[in-house]
Amino acid sequence: MLEKMTPPVLQRVIQSMFLVLCLHTGWQFHRFLLWATGASEVFVPRPASVEAFLPIAALMGLRRLLQTGAWDMVHPAALAILLAAMVTALVLRKGFCGYVCPVGLISGMLNTLGRRLSLSRVPGPWAARLLSVPKYLALGFFIYTVFFGMDLAAIEQFATGPYNYVADARMLRFFQSPSRTTMVVLAALLVLGTVLRSFWCRYLCPYGALLGLLSWASPTSVRRDPATCVQCGRCTRACPGCIRVQDMERVLSPECLGCMRCQEACPVEGCISLRAAGRAIPSWVTGVGSVAVMLGAWLLALQAGLWDQRVPMAMLQRFYRMFLE
Ligand code: SF4
Ligand code: SF4
Repeated sequence: MLEKMTPPVLQRVIQSMFLVLCLHTGWQFHRFLLWATGASEVFVPRPASVEAFLPIAALMGLRRLLQTGAWDMVHPAALAILLAAMVTALVLRKGFCGYVCPVGLISGMLNTLGRRLSLSRVPGPWAARLLSVPKYLALGFFIYTVFFGMDLAAIEQFATGPYNYVADARMLRFFQSPSRTTMVVLAALLVLGTVLRSFWCRYLCPYGALLGLLSWASPTSVRRDPATCVQCGRCTRACPGCIRVQDMERVLSPECLGCMRCQEACPVEGCISLRAAGRAIPSWVTGVGSVAVMLGAWLLALQAGLWDQRVPMAMLQRFYRMFLE
């Protein structure tokens, strides 16, 4: 069945599954908050997967884990998800960005809209490098702050502080009741995403920047066979990462999602292939492999008791009421 699906179809199927999961998580968390703040009597368990939206807490959890060996039990799932995304990048390039992250799906839809409206533009190589600077600066700032700017005592203080306990609720409120500034910024991002291919993912997302840098170590990569290539440029035009595939023999760019749209677009059979350690592998491996890593991480964390938050419910309710009412 996987062999029959084209790479874009497989990508959309997997992305849609994760989008549904995210929406369900958001809805369940909303209902949990209603109960926790006394607005509803119907108890709904807190979905731990809501912590996927807490990358800073996850980074702090990683620092704590590396220094003390202790797993953060305030937002344990955040750490499990970050580690799983990092493993995905180390093995399967940016499969997390290409298949798991719902922003990737929205980005892809904006790309399609931009092409249909003939608005889509691809910056030249130097402009693209300059536009990428903010995401690496943001990543550098977060890594410096968490790993060098704060000592362990400050990390502990933040982790056990009320702000951290309610970070998930604040994130939900951010989306449920956006301020005017937030709306303006989101609207600008939507417009820019329509004009510049994969604007958020390609130029602004620090999470993607981290995974892109890790993906350099990945044994998986896209290869182009220069002997059979007819230089039609279709691979380059199809690439959501704006990579000039037609000029490369091996795509080692930190923007490669492993989505294999370049292969799908190529008119020469076998000219573009996905390879791992020098051997050709099926194009679905990045997508299905990314799902397997995420599912595996969830099962492992669940089994080890490192998925669900361990915070007394009465304390959590007190903090939620304090911050949200
Ligand atoms: S090079 Fe190919 S696999 Fe990589 S992002 Fe571009 S289209 Fe996708
Ligand atoms: S689409 Fe295929 S034939 Fe055309 S430039 Fe790319 S690799 Fe070469």
